[in-house]
Amino acid sequence: MSTTEQPTTDAAPSPALPDGPRGLLIGGEFVDAADGATMAVHNPATGEVMAEVAVAGQEDVDRAVRVARDAFVGAWRDVTPSARGKILWRLADLLEENADELALIESLDNGKPLAEARGDHGFSAEVFRYYAGAATKIDGRTVTPSAPGPWHAYTRREPLGVVGQIIPWNFPLMMAAWKVAPALAAGNTILLKPAEQTPLSALRLGELFLEAGLPPGVLNILNGDGAVTGAAIAGHDGVDKIAFTGSAETGRKIVHAATGNLKKVTLELGGKSPNVVFADADLEAATAGASAAIFSHMGEVCIAGSRLYVQEDVFDDVLAGVADNARALKVGPGTDPGTQLGPLVSVEQLARVTGYIEDGLRGGARALAGGARHGDRGYFVEPTVLVDVEPDARVVREEIFGPVLVARPFKDPEDLAREANDTRYGLAAGVWTKDLSKAHRAAAELQAGMVFINTYGAIDPSLPFGGYKESGWGRELGPDGLDPYLQTKTVVVAL
Ligand code: NAP
Ligand code: MG
Repeated sequence: MSTTEQPTTDAAPSPALPDGPRGLLIGGEFVDAADGATMAVHNPATGEVMAEVAVAGQEDVDRAVRVARDAFVGAWRDVTPSARGKILWRLADLLEENADELALIESLDNGKPLAEARGDHGFSAEVFRYYAGAATKIDGRTVTPSAPGPWHAYTRREPLGVVGQIIPWNFPLMMAAWKVAPALAAGNTILLKPAEQTPLSALRLGELFLEAGLPPGVLNILNGDGAVTGAAIAGHDGVDKIAFTGSAETGRKIVHAATGNLKKVTLELGGKSPNVVFADADLEAATAGASAAIFSHMGEVCIAGSRLYVQEDVFDDVLAGVADNARALKVGPGTDPGTQLGPLVSVEQLARVTGYIEDGLRGGARALAGGARHGDRGYFVEPTVLVDVEPDARVVREEIFGPVLVARPFKDPEDLAREANDTRYGLAAGVWTKDLSKAHRAAAELQAGMVFINTYGAIDPSLPFGGYKESGWGRELGPDGLDPYLQTKTVVVAL
């Protein structure tokens, strides 16, 4: 579609935003900020203001830390694991009972198609159930020391205390679920800061948690600006751990801010993940998979398969198919039925993504599909496929975080591994081939926390998720996702 054509946004007005809490959740109540500050929430399909939410300042963060410390001992750490698990399970049921409303809130706030929002929230419910079951399985060990003497020695697995969780705007409710579920299962209390672009679904999550019976003060939700609210949480001496998902640049700031009390830090950062198609692959499946890997959720996905490497003999065919798929996508507001690609989250993200496309084209890239903004209202970008890109081009090296694919041909597996691994990132990788040993060799060779073979982006609550290199510290989901919320105490008794 050319830039002069209007997106369907002008035709269909957005559905109304459901009512819901707009304050800060501190101590089990939604309250105004101490200084009364608020910020506007925009609908990215239209650019219009939909709501105002409270913004936490230092005073609110201090109060939430006190409340969370009080709730840690007694109200949460010391209730039975079964009681904690039951609340997480009840919350999962409530997410499903309110699925339509939550999907509408998310689609209006983030821009993603309703069906994708529903998928995120269904997955989130399963994450809460996974960790509901984990709450009753947190055990230490008995240990047999070799030093002379009769001993009774054992370990205990204990929660850390108050954890700060800072999340991005691309999967607002799902990122909250991945962080909140294991932290609560382990017995910690929480300060959660959603991204300023997408504050709404987390507030509704907080309300559902109160309905599920979560004691006051266990989960506190503080919206606000990263540089103020986020920094206040990351630098707070009363916070024992920070879990962060977002850009590598902000990840570095979090690490610096954490040095005051040397709080524990886990980071889930970005990627520029290679998706590799060998000539012997099921090319139909690989073409569909390569398209979905970059165009679902508008490409605003940390594991997006944003660098496509196709073996030279089949390069033109696969790229023609991916470009066809890109052109066929229905672009429009996430709340319109049939929309497959919604708007980007914000006007800043629109500028960033179109800036990358222009930079690539100026540098000699050729757009097989897309290549520009879509329409002139809302923050839509055409699904874009760039070829004739050099390995050192910014569009090849940097995370774009939009529906923009760069593709390069390769000759043999050795060249491929060298080029695919030539990046600071190491989050995910895809491999498409019918040759089993080629697939497993590539899986071993690729420097990435997750490798998908003949599929892309297959995630599950049981599967550890996280990055090599500058893509992060630690893992989320699975048993590995619980560990960062626990510490080990060794107890030794001389008998
Ligand atoms: P970002 O700055 O990393 O934002 C992520 C979270 O960190 C937000 O809640 C943000 O708050 C908060 N934050 C920002 N500065 C902070 C600070 N100094 N201390 C504590 N918290 C802070 O990401 P962004 O600016 O929204 O997006 C920029 C780029 O980051 C994207 O284009 C993309 O490349 C990457 N990104 C990656 C992921 C991922 O899943 N790995 C997610 C989002 C973005 P505010 O939003 O309120 O400022
Ligand atoms: Mg928004």
